[in-house]
Amino acid sequence: MTKKLTGIAASDGIAVAPAYLLVEPDLSFSKTSVSDVESELARFKDAIKVSTAEVEKIRDSAKKSLGEDEAQVFEAHLMILNDPEFTGAIETEIKDKKINSEAALDGTAQKFIAIFEGMTDNAYMQQRAADVRDVSKRIMAHLLGKELPNPATIDHEVIVVAHDLTPSDTAQLNKKFVKGFVTDIGGRTAHSAIMARSLELPAVVGTESITKDVVNGQTLVVDGLNGDAVIKPSDEQIADYKQKSEAFLKQKAEWDKLKNEPSVTADGKQFTIAANIGTPADMQGVNENGAEAVGLYRTEFLYMNSKDFPTEEDQFEAYKEVIEGMNGKQVVIRTMDIGGDKHLDYWDLPEEMNPFLGVRAIRLSLQNEEIFRTQLRALLRASAYGKLAIMFPMIGTLGELRKAKSILNEEKTKLTQKGTKVGSDLQVGMMIEVPAAAVLADQFAKEVDFFSIGTNDLIQYSMAADRGNDNVSYLYQPANPSVLRLIKHTIDAAHENGIWCGMCGEAAGDNIMFPILLSMGLDEYSMSATSILRIRSLMKKLNTEDIKELANKACYVSETAEENEKLVNDLMKEVNK
Ligand code: PEP
Ligand code: MG
Repeated sequence: MTKKLTGIAASDGIAVAPAYLLVEPDLSFSKTSVSDVESELARFKDAIKVSTAEVEKIRDSAKKSLGEDEAQVFEAHLMILNDPEFTGAIETEIKDKKINSEAALDGTAQKFIAIFEGMTDNAYMQQRAADVRDVSKRIMAHLLGKELPNPATIDHEVIVVAHDLTPSDTAQLNKKFVKGFVTDIGGRTAHSAIMARSLELPAVVGTESITKDVVNGQTLVVDGLNGDAVIKPSDEQIADYKQKSEAFLKQKAEWDKLKNEPSVTADGKQFTIAANIGTPADMQGVNENGAEAVGLYRTEFLYMNSKDFPTEEDQFEAYKEVIEGMNGKQVVIRTMDIGGDKHLDYWDLPEEMNPFLGVRAIRLSLQNEEIFRTQLRALLRASAYGKLAIMFPMIGTLGELRKAKSILNEEKTKLTQKGTKVGSDLQVGMMIEVPAAAVLADQFAKEVDFFSIGTNDLIQYSMAADRGNDNVSYLYQPANPSVLRLIKHTIDAAHENGIWCGMCGEAAGDNIMFPILLSMGLDEYSMSATSILRIRSLMKKLNTEDIKELANKACYVSETAEENEKLVNDLMKEVNK
């Protein structure tokens, strides 16, 4: 039977393909004693043998689809599977204690993990704990006769279905075969959704029950335009979705014609439309979509995609590649925003009750100065290769901003004293994403070269609604007058103090928000590369004279987000007449 689920439209486009469940099976077991030790040992050795064959296969396909670097982790897994110290210890447990393989494996793995995690002065060895955990999971699955999902081995077109996708899961998806994804939880501005947009994968998040409703291999439609997922669609539905997809692609082809055109309004006013990126590999999308700048490079993905802290040299190379790739156009690089929903396997940070309100972004950088200084040196060196702007995330107080700037200046002085070249027109700015900073924007504006408004967080912190929690997504209201007043105050404060103001939160590329922001005089609009041409086309239709009053109405006359949505929809009806 066909079943339609409604979630949140997280990334444009429509795809139809078999479902691939990226869901871990239940690996719980009971500890039992065994009388026939020999056959238990044989059972264990068998699980090692099939696990080894499986990892070899995964390694080979990961090499082909994701590259040598991504495949490295599986070499480490094979080493553990072949390590007599590890497997021997498990066999000894089975023999001596006469317990089942599952209990012996679990006990031994826990011991190895504890030893590796205890090596706090050796990050490399600490990382081995994660490898032991992964390998043990695989052996356990074989012992229990269950199947683990292996995304790296996907070799045919699928739609990935998961409870949630972490940013690193998303980074590992091979676009050649993965045609879209659907999740149980998540919001439009969760990082997995943002990455789906940069990968141009149709996605629907927050369906609540997709992992329970769909079975591996069943045909699934993901409609990222409306936020629907359809399980076992009828032939008629498939035909309808194909038609809708074609219409969308036709519309996209129209937008594509604006690729090399400037971003101007109907009355000839020019603004900057920039792209948000997560890795240098995203530069292809930046150029293909005619971005006029990079308005946000989320550098934490560089940390998340490595097995250990990236060195100053690694970082320098990545930043230089992006800066040079923009040929003199501005690149805003944000210092790392780890914490919240972004973690590093190799950085064992204390668990927090409320990670989004905890030691995140600049707070983490200021508490770990050496890591911060390494990043700043890499950025400063890269600034010699083009037009760089460095941006600090999650600034809440002037004290934090001043501290971050003074560390940056110290590193700059040290580099120039050594004769290292640093860009002469380097700009230093901050994100406005903590409401406290938006309120004091007039004071912050005196100490930076620019602002970039991060609405993803500004909204979550203003409305006290977790950006990744679909149960409170009704509160996630970009067009709420309270949020708009904070935005307007920030833009006005920037202009009164002679600095420019951009926006790199998802609201910059939103059809409802864009006319309001244009009316407020926002200077730069930075968004997922795939939104650029749609917004350029919208900008072309709008006359700044005609929308002069929109900002004030939206902030001070309207009482709700819905009223503002209607205001813009009515305006667009007039414009499209
Ligand atoms: C934001 O908060 O709007 C933003 C752009 O940063 P991130 O989405 O990475 O938190
Ligand atoms: Mg943010």
